[in-house]
Amino acid sequence: MERTPLIVGNWKMNGTITQTLLLINELLQMAQNLKDIDIVVAPPFTSLYSASIALQDSAIGLAAQNMFWEHEGAYTGEISGDFLKDIGCTYVLIGHSERRQYFGETDESVNKKIQMALGLELIPIFCLGETEAQREKKQTFDVIQEQLKIGLKNLHMNDFKNFVIAYEPIWAIGTGKNATSEQVEEVHSFIRNTLEKSFDAPMANGIRILYGGSVKPKNARELKQTKNVDGLLVGGASLKADQFIEIIKC
Ligand code: PEP
Repeated sequence: MERTPLIVGNWKMNGTITQTLLLINELLQMAQNLKDIDIVVAPPFTSLYSASIALQDSAIGLAAQNMFWEHEGAYTGEISGDFLKDIGCTYVLIGHSERRQYFGETDESVNKKIQMALGLELIPIFCLGETEAQREKKQTFDVIQEQLKIGLKNLHMNDFKNFVIAYEPIWAIGTGKNATSEQVEEVHSFIRNTLEKSFDAPMANGIRILYGGSVKPKNARELKQTKNVDGLLVGGASLKADQFIEIIKC
């Protein structure tokens, strides 16, 4: 099955509105003639609305980096998926390892957020991955299996029509350490096989599985050859328009 490649830029906690708009304008110019690829950017919450206006009528999609699992109410500091829809987001990152590491997100809270996003027709980019210690103890597959089992609890086949999974080994995020193409392929095919067992083959073959972790133009070129890699989630390198575009062009 043909899966359109998807490249997502996670800008993390970087960029005022002015800086976000400058970067978006550079990307819009450089990405003008790119075809057969989906590009999405995830600026910080405060820039989302301005970014949404700047990206209107463009081929670049907009993601938030997080959301809460309720529609509204007494949840000081939180942002609901309804608000994200309201300002034109189509995607939302859920369960990024930095959220799990610094803000106490668990597989259970990730599952609640995924269910809420799907109910609102926001496309979840469900992030998962193992720590370095877990990899060293050869627990990678057990960890991924558990994250999938709990993260996807109560989901039905229809929920996966618009759904993205991002495998991000925590030891490779922002560290400059690269997972090899073999390590990535091993986990991506494990994820696809697990989905096939839990759901069915057409569903598993249709879903896009991205890789994230210190992606730069050089390893993007290598990862392109990897059978089960359908795109990339790029952090640091997506903050420089020329690097991000070089990765996209790969
Ligand atoms: C990320 O933020 O999801 C990420 C992969 O970051 P980096 O590319 O900087 O490792």
